This record gives sequence, C-alpha cells and structure tokens, in this order.
Amino acid sequence: MPLYTYQAISQDRACGNCVLPFDVMQKLADERLLACPECGHPVKKIITAVHLNTGTTGSPSSTLSEKNIAKNGFTQYRKVAKGHYEKTAGKGPDTISADD
Ligand SMILES: [Zn+2]
Repeated sequence: MPLYTYQAISQDRACGNCVLPFDVMQKLADERLLACPECGHPVKKIITAVHLNTGTTGSPSSTLSEKNIAKNGFTQYRKVAKGHYEKTAGKGPDTISADD
C-alpha cells in the first residue's frame, strides 16, 4: 500500500501528530485525508520523494552516509574544482578530471 504524507495546513492549533509531516498508509482508491485523525485539524497532502528501500533503517542522512553508499555498491564523488572530482566513497578511480 502506498504511503502518503500529510501535514497540518497551519501550525495554529495543530497537535503533536500533525504539526510535523506524518505518514498514512492508504489504498489508491481511498479518499485523501482532509483532517488529522488525532485532532481533526485540516491537513494537506505533501509530495515526498520515493522511499528508497535499501534494506536499512534509519534517517536519510545515515542511508546516504559514505559508508552506506560504499556498502550498497555505489560510488560517490565530491566536486573539488571545475571538472575535477574526488572520490568520497565506493570503488573507482580516486579522482576524475575533465582534462584526462
Ligand atoms: Zn492533529
């Protein structure tokens, strides 16, 4: 079932549940949520990035950590200058240069 993210339209009178974005599992056919299930405050649907299932749990920052990137077989480069990149994680050449 897809996961939808909602958040209170305004922060005024929003409860602890809806003051921050919260996820709701809904069928595609379900009506979109119009009010917070906890306090009834009007909520809006938030478009979020697709949840990447890498088999790990944790915050996106830990999922995208250099250790995790390498563990999952990805390579990450950091731009150090125009046309020059330095490897920060994974396999591959240590540097990439547009002049090579
Ligand atoms: Zn609420």
